[in-house]
Amino acid sequence: MDNITPNDMTAIVEADRAHVWHHLLPHKPLETNDPRIIVEGKGMRVWDQKGKEHIDGVSGGVWTVNVGYGRVEIADAVRDQLVKMNYFAQSAGSIPGSRFAEKLISKMPGLSRVYYANSGSEANEKAFKMVRQISARQHGGKKHKILFRHRDYHGTTIACLSAGGQEHRNMQYGPFTPGFVSVPHCLEYRAHEQGLAGDDYGVAIANEIEKVILREGPDTIGALCLEPITAGGGVIVPPKGYWERVQEIVEKYDILLHIDEVVCGVGRTGTWFGYQHYGVKPDFVTMAKGVASGYAAISCCVTSEKVFDMFKDDHADPLGYFRDISTFGGCTAGPAAALANMKIIEDEGLLENTIQMGEYMLDQLWALSEKHEVIGEARGKGLFLGAELVKDRKTKEPADEKMVQAVVADCMAQGTIIGATNRSVPGYNNTLCFSPALIATKDDLDQIVASVDEALGRVFG
Ligand code: PLP
Repeated sequence: MDNITPNDMTAIVEADRAHVWHHLLPHKPLETNDPRIIVEGKGMRVWDQKGKEHIDGVSGGVWTVNVGYGRVEIADAVRDQLVKMNYFAQSAGSIPGSRFAEKLISKMPGLSRVYYANSGSEANEKAFKMVRQISARQHGGKKHKILFRHRDYHGTTIACLSAGGQEHRNMQYGPFTPGFVSVPHCLEYRAHEQGLAGDDYGVAIANEIEKVILREGPDTIGALCLEPITAGGGVIVPPKGYWERVQEIVEKYDILLHIDEVVCGVGRTGTWFGYQHYGVKPDFVTMAKGVASGYAAISCCVTSEKVFDMFKDDHADPLGYFRDISTFGGCTAGPAAALANMKIIEDEGLLENTIQMGEYMLDQLWALSEKHEVIGEARGKGLFLGAELVKDRKTKEPADEKMVQAVVADCMAQGTIIGATNRSVPGYNNTLCFSPALIATKDDLDQIVASVDEALGRVFG
């Protein structure tokens, strides 16, 4: 804020109030309250326009800034690249594009090709289009349906919302794209609502996917698209046996497996990718947020060579190659930032830190549940955690959304930024979310948990 005077800041706030349409926000309150403007960041902390310091428990609000704020080495890498070569359409290659693809693939055995784009939604759209084109070329268009899971989210475009398992995000935006079919969520804590509670829940709920496939006709299903661990839909860590059974099912029915790593990818769960906890073999992996930790816009749709091979040759079919472009997929800032981001994760041992700190924080959340009845369950993997709030531990009736939001607001007032799962739909608007940067220390996590402790005490008494 060095060279911004108080008068400048007043003008900035007023310009924001007058002209900026913020994401995911009802704006009426901003007519009387100041919009929040984040001015500076360093490590785990950010400062707002009033100079107030916050510890960031959600890495830029939406699980993005994996390596923390103020990373000069990423900024330098981007600057050096931009002055040399900022952009050329990705029908040609670039030095950072080539280097990052090689580096990324070295972390993803079994996969081989990187398709560059800009956002998680766009990367998912690429995969959907590839599935549809494979169906058109190899199955006369019949094997075109894409299965998605209730409570998963894959992005904001109409096709991504068509694959969206969070009802409130879709309401009022239809009609949607045909050919997307829902399968049940796999949250063990709420298995009783599906009539499936028991030791074999993981296999039983995966078998529900098979039932949908048989109902629709296996020869109509092109792909299954899943988050490895559901993020905004409730921080849902799949139960034991689930992924193994999913893998068997997709192989049995010749269905392509698309894993959406937009949140889990690049270290968030303590492995490079969330699916790597489960030994599954995806055909597509999409990623965005943590790829460059928000230092540049980049997303990737990574595929196997088998998928790539299907688009290689246009001799037999002049329409046979992937006729798709993302203009800004040719920006070199993205892969330059992504390379520097990955180097930091390696050099600083951040995967290991994520596992250790994640276990520590999960323990702290369970410890908090001994004091606060309202915490029904704490769950997560690595530094990707949630605490589900309930009115009653026996019935598991979800806590009131207003109270959940009051906890988030109370933490904010204390200078601690936490999140909560998506609003408006009863059943999964009641989970507090935590995704601190992978550099978090025990002291940082203690500070976040202490704020939650205080907030829960004040809000729930
Ligand atoms: N997939 C998942 C799992 C997400 O959580 C999100 C965004 O939150 C997306 C896709 C969409 O990414 P983007 O907002 O970059 O389009």
